[in-house]
Amino acid sequence: MSLHEISAKLRDGYRVVRTVLILSLVGMVAEFLFAYLTGSMILYTDFVHWAIDASLEFMTMIALYLVSKTLKRFSWGILYLESFLILLTSISIISVYIISFVEYVNNIVLNGGNTKVTTVNPFLSLVTLAGGFLTFYAFLILRKEYAKTRLEILKSEYIHALIDIAASAIASIGVVVTALTRSPSVELLTIVAGLFFALHSIANVIEDSVKSIIGVEGDKELKYDIMSEISGLENVRIKNVDVRKIGSFYIVTVDLYVDPSATLLELNKLRTRIIKLCRGISEMIYHVDVVFRPDPEKYKSIKKAKSRKGRKREQIS
Ligand SMILES: [Zn+2]
Repeated sequence: MSLHEISAKLRDGYRVVRTVLILSLVGMVAEFLFAYLTGSMILYTDFVHWAIDASLEFMTMIALYLVSKTLKRFSWGILYLESFLILLTSISIISVYIISFVEYVNNIVLNGGNTKVTTVNPFLSLVTLAGGFLTFYAFLILRKEYAKTRLEILKSEYIHALIDIAASAIASIGVVVTALTRSPSVELLTIVAGLFFALHSIANVIEDSVKSIIGVEGDKELKYDIMSEISGLENVRIKNVDVRKIGSFYIVTVDLYVDPSATLLELNKLRTRIIKLCRGISEMIYHVDVVFRPDPEKYKSIKKAKSRKGRKREQIS
């Protein structure tokens, strides 16, 4: 596969995740609006889930955009900043939610059998059902794009969407049953189920952002495989190979000493060869940065050769 094709695949992946993010933002705003207007804790919990999922999709989208620039250096700065902001936003959303949740549970404990439920209109299930349809559409386009590009990250996204369809079905049933029976236990059960689904996303956000902020080194075995493949190449000496995991894929930085007299064309060819080599080792490597440095040892020998020539010239004149 050519570099152009790899980059086109990643760009397609980026576009589909961008569409999914827009769907999530629509779902998130709708849930918030109805949660705010009615005070339903079930919808409010669902909103938190949508918001965290949208953050995750935003992270994936930015990462795919950055890796799709196959020949550009990977912008770690943007990734760090983005991860930090997402982590901050998610923690704020969760903290505000926890306060409301504690208040809600407190209310049940204080009022016992006289507790009034917060979800009283069965038609609110139309909101959660609509959310389910949005998620189903997201699932379809992610699965279709995965079949085309085989990008593993899209697979984990569509499996997540599948889980979320179940989440919205449970929320919809919970809304109808709570509104009809006015039972606080049914409402609490639905909220806890919703929280369980949200927790899955929260764990992902925290794991992904913390990992990319502190720069956890990924897979020692993969690093070893890359090093042994590259050491087979002519005229290069490895300074360092760095393998970082972002979400479900890897970014590799190959730092090499090369012959200082190598031409730009030769280096470009070498770069392409190394990128393909890495992709051949693992499909999960989405981006390869190749850094060239003049080999100090060869530099010395060139200098020596030059000064020898110079001396010879002096001797002749
Ligand atoms: Zn989710």
